[in-house]
Amino acid sequence: MTEKTDCVVIGAGVVGLAVARALALAGREVIVLEAAGAIGTETSSRNSEVIHAGIYYPPGSAKAALCVAGKALLYRYCEEHGVAHRRCGKLIVATSAVQAATLHKILAQAGANGVRDLRLLTADEVGAMEPELRCVAALYSPSTGIVDSHGLMLAFQGEAEDRGAMLALLSPVTGGEIGAGGIMLDVGGAEPMRIVARTVVNSAGLMAQRVAAALRGFPKEKVPPCHYAKGNYYSLAARSPFTHLIYPVPEAAGLGVHLTLDLAGQARFGPDVEWITEIDYDVDLRRADGFYRAIRDYWPGLKDGQLAPGYAGIRPKLGGPDAPASDFLIQGPDEHGVAGLVNLFGIESPGLTASLALAKRVAQKARMA
Ligand SMILES: Cc1cc2nc3c(=O)[nH]c(=O)nc-3n(C[C@H](O)[C@H](O)[C@H](O)COP(=O)(O)OP(=O)(O)OC[C@H]3O[C@@H](n4cnc5c(N)ncnc54)[C@H](O)[C@@H]3O)c2cc1C
Repeated sequence: MTEKTDCVVIGAGVVGLAVARALALAGREVIVLEAAGAIGTETSSRNSEVIHAGIYYPPGSAKAALCVAGKALLYRYCEEHGVAHRRCGKLIVATSAVQAATLHKILAQAGANGVRDLRLLTADEVGAMEPELRCVAALYSPSTGIVDSHGLMLAFQGEAEDRGAMLALLSPVTGGEIGAGGIMLDVGGAEPMRIVARTVVNSAGLMAQRVAAALRGFPKEKVPPCHYAKGNYYSLAARSPFTHLIYPVPEAAGLGVHLTLDLAGQARFGPDVEWITEIDYDVDLRRADGFYRAIRDYWPGLKDGQLAPGYAGIRPKLGGPDAPASDFLIQGPDEHGVAGLVNLFGIESPGLTASLALAKRVAQKARMA
């Protein structure tokens, strides 16, 4: 059976759902094809749920622009749509003089990204906010917060469906072909079918490269490499003594083992960085020692036995362990030459924060597609 439609979004993670919402609000007919049996079962439910301020990304990058714009859009969206969130603030703590010098660089970088509300704090000022923290100085980011990512996805889905979008679960895209009359997609599942769409947004997260490569007629050299950087989390099996998010000075490939809070106040630590080749969400118990060591650098009060294995998520990175940090890659017809197709590659952090801004940009590209 072959169906025809205006737009297909492949993947019902937070970004795919935000894109479906944006396209539906723009009056487009939208079908979302999701391989799993529920929305948001991959990266969108395996992250820190932090609304990032936009501090660390290179000025001028898509990550910086979309994080800063996305943060403002996200706070407003959560307020208007009753999505649970809290502007709890974050401390970036320096535990040595060398790290304290780095705080000044981070402050300058944040300013270049348009994040102008950061404040440098002395150890005493930090002590007054978080008595259990050990540091020589810190940066305070008041606009960092946390959000209920599942509530957010449900809100996006609800709005998209109210505007006529359709969500098809258990509907993996297994291949397809670029044609003159649109993009044909092979859809697997219990009742395999074909859909021909004028516009296709590939928002398949960890699988985005595989989906693009499976489209006959798509230039293979335009499919970027994909590397998986797993992030393991450990939960704190005790009441959190902290009310702010606590981050060390960032390290290569990640933000360092930091403490985040969920909306119930439960603390978790992570994610670390473990390069893997296959999707595997088991938390490696041997990594606990590294967590204790990293956390005690800024929280010496952490006791043995207080960390319990939590969960893991996987970052879809465009570069491997030795490559410099890569940017989001939003590839439309201008970039790959195929009419009607928008690919989203490397949508790692801050993809949750940036989801509304990313969706806006994708909807613009889709208009031109
Ligand atoms: C450890 C970790 C921590 C993070 N922390 C934060 C944070 O605190 N703040 C923040 O802003 N961002 C954070 N992020 C980033 C954020 O989680 C992601 O950018 C975001 O969730 C990506 O959403 P997505 O919709 O692109 O991908 P996903 O959520 O992975 O969705 C892709 C969907 O596509 C589906 N799919 C795959 N293949 C197919 C196919 N062939 N056919 C149909 N469907 C398919 C999948 O089943 C999946 O549902 C973090 C990421 C990680 C890994």
